[in-house]
Amino acid sequence: MEDGEGAASFAGGWLTIDLTALVANFRRLQAAVAPARVAAVVKADAYGLGAAPVAAALAGAGCRDFFVADLAEAVSLRARLGGDPDIYVLNGLWPGSEAAAQAAAVVPVLNSREQLRLWAERAKAAAARLPAVLQVDTGMSRLGLSADEVASLAAAPEALADLDVRYLMSHLASAEAGDGGVSAQQRAEFERLAAMLPPWPRTLANSAASLTDSRAHGDLVRVGLALYGGVSDAGLQPVVTLAGRVIQTRTLPPGAGVGYGLTYKTKGAERIATIAVGYADGWPRALSNRGAAWLGGVRLPVVGQVSMDSMMIDVSALPPDALGLGDAVELIGTHQTLAEVAEQAGTIPYEILTRLGHRYARRYLGGAADPVAAVRA
Ligand SMILES: *Cc1c(COP(=O)(O)O)cnc(C)c1O
Repeated sequence: MEDGEGAASFAGGWLTIDLTALVANFRRLQAAVAPARVAAVVKADAYGLGAAPVAAALAGAGCRDFFVADLAEAVSLRARLGGDPDIYVLNGLWPGSEAAAQAAAVVPVLNSREQLRLWAERAKAAAARLPAVLQVDTGMSRLGLSADEVASLAAAPEALADLDVRYLMSHLASAEAGDGGVSAQQRAEFERLAAMLPPWPRTLANSAASLTDSRAHGDLVRVGLALYGGVSDAGLQPVVTLAGRVIQTRTLPPGAGVGYGLTYKTKGAERIATIAVGYADGWPRALSNRGAAWLGGVRLPVVGQVSMDSMMIDVSALPPDALGLGDAVELIGTHQTLAEVAEQAGTIPYEILTRLGHRYARRYLGGAADPVAAVRA
């Protein structure tokens, strides 16, 4: 599907999201963790890729479980996916949001005794058994009941009488470090806390743990980054490519300053191209004088500071007429992966994805039955 007509073709950058690769990643993860099920984490607009087309493609591939961060994300996803899939809300409930959560038929993650009480009161008032996930803190100190709270809940389980607890949940602090000490300790603590509670199904693993630690799989894994091609793994495909367009090229003499603060000085005669992607598009300023674009196999270093709407690259290594007005260079793709861009910028792929800008022309490839509708949604 081409989104190339109209205003989109005038954009300074082109973002392509390959829904066929996304679905292949889902299937590969599902095969890797079976018999556990794969839940798709589509919070933050599916890490910037578009929750509506991403979730529609995954639902079409058989995904039945979706995690979002908050109720607003859940409500718009419910409208998109219809009543069938389970939509879990990681941040749980605010006082006053219980009725809306029930109306959207979401499954809140209950992270504290207070959230548990709010949802149980709602269930009693509605004379309904409401679904929930109960999170326990196994050492990350972010969300979930403490060990003491688990013990007191286990001693007075009537607090749970009106709830249908679907999963016991926790989250790993250092999963990408492998099955080192921290994850092993958290798994042991998860076991210890689970033993005090009814035998609910369990969910513990994110992408990294799903791929590297089968002991963390439990019954449901919660996977975001690996679906979106942000994890280096032979079996997973890249999903995102990004190209920026040339606005202008010039040949500079030795010693010319480039960009704000003139932080780059040409060493010899250099050919410089200005690309229409800047930090307002989510291209990190940390890549000033550090990152690169690519054309074919040729690395084109960023020179000077990344500006708001543009940046300069040294294209001296290319033939003089290789790049003209409107031509594209690769920013994320086969020569420079998402993970490599993140590393050069001193950050993580999650941050690069979730900051992808809104000015890019977005193109969705494959996946959804009606990709045009998916893009417009
Ligand atoms: C974001 C999130 C995930 C997904 O993490 P990935 O590393 O992207 O797979 C899973 N669980 C929780 C609680 C999260 O907040």
